[in-house]
Amino acid sequence: MSHQVTQNDLCIERGEGCFVFRHLFVFPIVHGFGTRMYNIYLTGDGERLRDREKFCGQLGINLDDLVCMEQIHNNNIVRVGAEHKGRGSKSDSDRITNVDGMITQAKGVPLAVRTADCAPLLFYDPVHEAIGVAHVGWKGAAVDLAGKMAMALKNNFLSQAEDIFVAIGPMIRSCCYEVGEDFHEMFGSHVERRGGSHYLNLAGVIMEELERAGVRKDRIYDSGLCTACNKDLFFSYRREGPETGRIFAVIMLKGDTV
Ligand SMILES: [Zn+2]
Repeated sequence: MSHQVTQNDLCIERGEGCFVFRHLFVFPIVHGFGTRMYNIYLTGDGERLRDREKFCGQLGINLDDLVCMEQIHNNNIVRVGAEHKGRGSKSDSDRITNVDGMITQAKGVPLAVRTADCAPLLFYDPVHEAIGVAHVGWKGAAVDLAGKMAMALKNNFLSQAEDIFVAIGPMIRSCCYEVGEDFHEMFGSHVERRGGSHYLNLAGVIMEELERAGVRKDRIYDSGLCTACNKDLFFSYRREGPETGRIFAVIMLKGDTV
């Protein structure tokens, strides 16, 4: 299972079914994303909670601390603090509602984003020691959530865009992401024509938004992994339907005791 991902020179396996970005591993943060070995989607049974616990355990994070958000395909971002620790970690009932992005400067507060085909983005500013997560599908891309995240880090923590690292986890890619012809109007050259069909390069849209916000191209690490192609590794909403599982991508500033 791990073979396909370890071929990718940006991502390395750390623990079973759990991957980190090679270039971010050197910083005082904990981060990573899971594979379908861990279905963290909280519908139905308690098995999912066990998967959450196991995934967090692989990273060295306490599930009790994890902060989860509702994710409604919008561009609302919330600033999280130590007082939010554990929100949505074990139940959706107390997760942070009405947002698709979270930022914090609080140490030891892990932020989580859950995805099947949408893009999980991890943000890290090593200068001002700030982090963020975002959940970006085409709707979030249409309202510049990625660029807005860089602005939110600036407005809240004085982050300079050129200092920020962004990691793009597994997501559906243009090889598999068929869309309607009307997407040309929204995303221009990021929609590719093949045969009689149209395919969205969502990662390309996100990277353009980040660069427009001032993030350096060489600080954007794209896993390049397609959730729809790699059916042994990831869940895919497109391939498997809305009831498919979800993976977590997580980032946390290391605290004094971590
Ligand atoms: Zn694909």
